[in-house]
Amino acid sequence: MASDVKCSVSSCNYWGKGNRCEAESIHVVNSVGGGGVSMEAGTMGRQEQAGTSAETACRTFKPKGL
Ligand code: SF4
Repeated sequence: MASDVKCSVSSCNYWGKGNRCEAESIHVVNSVGGGGVSMEAGTMGRQEQAGTSAETACRTFKPKGL
């Protein structure tokens, strides 16, 4: 089980300093074929802020402030 999850989705409520995920557990989905973006070409390198979990590969994503 991963205890140190790095994530660059800073618009997520669980995102912490040093690009660390502070959620107790996360659910990551395969974005291939699902109409989403790949981790390499999309989420990890994008400058835009994600607003929904569908814009990340992580179903645990929760927008900040909710
Ligand atoms: S819950 Fe998912 S999107 Fe949010 S910080 Fe953790 S890994 Fe990133």
